[in-house]
Amino acid sequence: MEPVGKTGCHFFQEALNTPFVSVKNPFLMAFLDRFASAIRNVAPALVAGCVVLMSPEARAQSGWDISKIEGREYVSVDSIKKFYNFNTMTRSGNQITLENSKVEMNLEIGGMECLMNRVKFVFSNKVEAIGSKAYVSRMDLAKLIDPVLRPNFIKNAGEFRTVILDPGHGGKDPGATNPLGTEAGYNLKVAELVRSQLLLKGFKVVMTRNTDHYLSLQERVSVANKVMENAIYISIHFNSGGNAARGIETFTLSPPGVAHYGRDVVAGDAQARAGNEHDSANIALATAVHGSVLRNVIDTKTKKSYTLDRGIKRARYSVLTGVKHPAILFEGGFMSHPYEAKLINNAAYQKAIANGIVSAVGTYLNAVRPKLAAQ
Ligand SMILES: [Zn+2]
Repeated sequence: MEPVGKTGCHFFQEALNTPFVSVKNPFLMAFLDRFASAIRNVAPALVAGCVVLMSPEARAQSGWDISKIEGREYVSVDSIKKFYNFNTMTRSGNQITLENSKVEMNLEIGGMECLMNRVKFVFSNKVEAIGSKAYVSRMDLAKLIDPVLRPNFIKNAGEFRTVILDPGHGGKDPGATNPLGTEAGYNLKVAELVRSQLLLKGFKVVMTRNTDHYLSLQERVSVANKVMENAIYISIHFNSGGNAARGIETFTLSPPGVAHYGRDVVAGDAQARAGNEHDSANIALATAVHGSVLRNVIDTKTKKSYTLDRGIKRARYSVLTGVKHPAILFEGGFMSHPYEAKLINNAAYQKAIANGIVSAVGTYLNAVRPKLAAQ
């Protein structure tokens, strides 16, 4: 269930482990950095895309092919191919595939979904076409593709030994319920499994709750923000929805100018929140966790996943807006789905999710670390 006031809840390895892009041209690197800092000092004009951040000469030098569509800046997929050293780009109808030895990226013109090494990401803007060329919004490039493909370039991410685990709900708020159990109970169980393994690996673990008691969303944020050292924050939930809804999904805070999941952009969306400082780290952490859990919930005999990939999405849940550390909210399946209800109640599935989160913490740490070593 989503942890908003209303009830009703709601990697990939190689790219993260092996940053594969070697960019020598400092101008090309500055292109993305400049966009990120412009967004940090958010002004509505910037997020609406009305400010040209680069002179025409600079654009020509950089090799980025930029166009404006309805006032928003877009970058051609051709220039993404070039910048990130993809060897091939193939197109079949509206489907575009970029590939090199480490990453396969799939895009669809007119679509919002992007697959990177088969992990699903939900873009903030549709992939567009101008003539025969496809374009991705600069927002999705700077705030999603780049930090996922080059996590070692994330400026304010680095070494950490503390993990804050937030089992959602508790006490008078059971979260989603079904005849087999409560979401609050499952959240705590998975968090405890994650905690014990992280302790064995030498991490310090801070839990927002250790027992079945109620904590407001603000109290969860306060627990996290009392942690002064570098840390990451993982909120653990299970979902509920219609009978047919299935799968896992991971939320990161919507960057300024991007809507809350499932809603249109509203005026307040342009305003940066505390958590936006970590937009790049947030998406990298989400990628590590989401991808790792997906790899852990595969039936070894049939090679099929026990669940479905609903993707990595953007939202403005309170625990994501207020926490000052890189933060994500993970949803491990639908308690309202007859099959997934049983799955979630199964200790082996709970353990598989926990193992996925634990290995993701290591993957993420390794991915963001090289930047510091290189400086
Ligand atoms: Zn929940």
